[in-house]
Amino acid sequence: MHAAEYLIVGGGFFGSAIAAYLGRCGYSVLLLDAAENLCTRASYVNQARVHGGYHYPRSVVTALRSQENYLRFIRDFDAAIVDNFEKVYAIAKLGSFITTEQFVNFCALTGCRLVEATPAITRLLNRELIDAAFVVEECAFDAGKIRILLRQQLHSAGVTVVTDKKVLRIQKKSSVLSAHLASGEEIEAERIIVATYSSLNEILCNSDLPLLPLCHEWVELPLLAPPTSIAFGLTVMDGPFFSFMPFPPEQCYSLSHVSYTPHQSWQDGASAWGIATANLSKQSRVQVMLQDSRRYLPSIADAQYIKSLWEVKTILPRSKHDDSRPILYQNNYGDCAGLSVVLGAKIDNLYDCLDYIAQEL
Ligand SMILES: Cc1cc2nc3c(=O)[nH]c(=O)nc-3n(C[C@H](O)[C@H](O)[C@H](O)COP(=O)(O)OP(=O)(O)OC[C@H]3O[C@@H](n4cnc5c(N)ncnc54)[C@H](O)[C@@H]3O)c2cc1C
Repeated sequence: MHAAEYLIVGGGFFGSAIAAYLGRCGYSVLLLDAAENLCTRASYVNQARVHGGYHYPRSVVTALRSQENYLRFIRDFDAAIVDNFEKVYAIAKLGSFITTEQFVNFCALTGCRLVEATPAITRLLNRELIDAAFVVEECAFDAGKIRILLRQQLHSAGVTVVTDKKVLRIQKKSSVLSAHLASGEEIEAERIIVATYSSLNEILCNSDLPLLPLCHEWVELPLLAPPTSIAFGLTVMDGPFFSFMPFPPEQCYSLSHVSYTPHQSWQDGASAWGIATANLSKQSRVQVMLQDSRRYLPSIADAQYIKSLWEVKTILPRSKHDDSRPILYQNNYGDCAGLSVVLGAKIDNLYDCLDYIAQEL
């Protein structure tokens, strides 16, 4: 395979969008992904929410960054935006980290606009457990359409895309970097950006580079056909509750629950990497998720279970404590000139990453 100025490892949303950006800037770019297609992993298996800030009352910085990036995201990925449903945030009476008054104040402070939910929505909620419900200005994205848009962007930016190519390790060779592939091939590039999300440390470990202290969860995302009465996305804030969101690529809804979605969690330490996900259990917890969710939204009991998607969710250790969702972008990683690593915490913080890259160019 030809050498390139930039080699991007990982063709999820972040790797693909970064590759397209660098291609538009005039660099020769090669994008490699281990899977058979782009955006098949976390960029597909997620709640599909374009964050407008409402989700982060415990991290005002994250809320403000989300708001700013939201507008850029819905402009750039307009054809993949799904906005034909009401987006409802509800506050639980018991067990919530936030009261209705605090949520309203937080939204006023950050400029997140909301209005009280209409009776058509609130009559479907159990008012013994729900204190208040608001319609907010957020939307969903269709991950299948995002993939098509990214493919178009990559094509018009002249990026070479090769799938089914797993990078094992990266090595510094005098003035260039060299990537060793599972196929036995070796590719040289002036700069390499690793955007492999949950398996970032696999490449770093194989390359004898320091590991990132990443926290992982093995998560289940059940997909359901909603009853006709539910034509809105519902998020119960902020604690051991659930979200029921449209999942546009499969024209259904996803259910996630703070207590039951993560089946297992682990952290990559200074010297140990990973866990064999192939051995992790896929015993669904959809029934217990539904049992708890129906206490707040009784008609969810009539939703039809379709199947569960499984993925590894990865965040930075600090995010577990302060609920922030910053981008991680480090260049010259581990004193390896030209090597960068990126971990996107949510789709819209692509723009924080592109801002870092733009400063470097
Ligand atoms: C359950 C869940 C819910 C979420 N909900 C939301 C949400 O509602 N809104 C939001 O904005 N964000 C959400 N997120 C976060 C969001 O999904 C991620 O931030 C984003 O998808 C990360 O994109 P990525 O490109 O870094 O990772 P990925 O999409 O995982 O891409 C990484 C790519 O690297 C490839 N790869 C891995 N190893 C190698 C290798 N050795 N060689 C070559 N290629 C390799 C993989 O095949 C994959 O395509 C959620 C995440 C999860 C898991």
